[in-house]
Amino acid sequence: MKQILVIAGLDPTGGAGILADARVAALHGARAVGVVTAHTVQDTSGVRSVVAAPAEAVGDEIAALLGDVEVDAVKIGMIASDAIARAVARALAATAAPVVWDPVLLPSRGVPLFAGDLAAAAAALLPEARLVTPNLHEASALSGVPVADEAGMRAAARAIPAAAVLVTGGHLAGDTARDVLRDGDAWRVLDAPRVAAGPLHGTGCVLSSAIACRLAAGEPLADAVAGAKAFVLERIRGALAVGRGARCLV
Ligand code: PLP
Repeated sequence: MKQILVIAGLDPTGGAGILADARVAALHGARAVGVVTAHTVQDTSGVRSVVAAPAEAVGDEIAALLGDVEVDAVKIGMIASDAIARAVARALAATAAPVVWDPVLLPSRGVPLFAGDLAAAAAALLPEARLVTPNLHEASALSGVPVADEAGMRAAARAIPAAAVLVTGGHLAGDTARDVLRDGDAWRVLDAPRVAAGPLHGTGCVLSSAIACRLAAGEPLADAVAGAKAFVLERIRGALAVGRGARCLV
């Protein structure tokens, strides 16, 4: 059985964060192991506050785990601070497994999920990442390029110094949810029909974990991204109302 290391925040509703990532792994026939980077106070209507884990503890937990358990892919979600990003990057030197980083900054509703020096966090984690999966806002924050259309998505994907960048365009207007993938010098555009699902929670977490599971299974990156996007669409169509706010995918 493939094992996925999830390094992410705890969303007690389970719609995002490490609980969602673990369920995505199970739905792909994989087994999650994981380290929590932050506790969040939230319900399905939004994030109220964040308590980051001590960076040294996060690094020690990953190092202990990787000293013992073989992992086939790594998914990094919310990292909360640049100190945690540096600790994660140091600890990941112990594995050659492909790393997918979803650079979570802001929730759809509520307080920020990252505080500190984003450039320092990016400098630590981007060299470790096989793929980084920013949405429009995150792509802009990581690249310094305004991202409001497909040209901006491409410019940001070019400017972000990672092996591969998937800019997700779900927040753009239109009938199509278009994502742009740059893998080295190769480009691919991925389209999905936009589904009128109302407010959703955790789509970025589910997408990036599904990609990590597919990379763990040995799929080439572009196939893993396309397969994960199809998985997200299927889960949006069956989105779950677990509380009174946004619906979730798992
Ligand atoms: N809480 C945690 C721990 C997360 O990792 C995320 C997103 O990655 C969120 C909340 C917010 O999710 P969304 O913006 O999809 O509601």
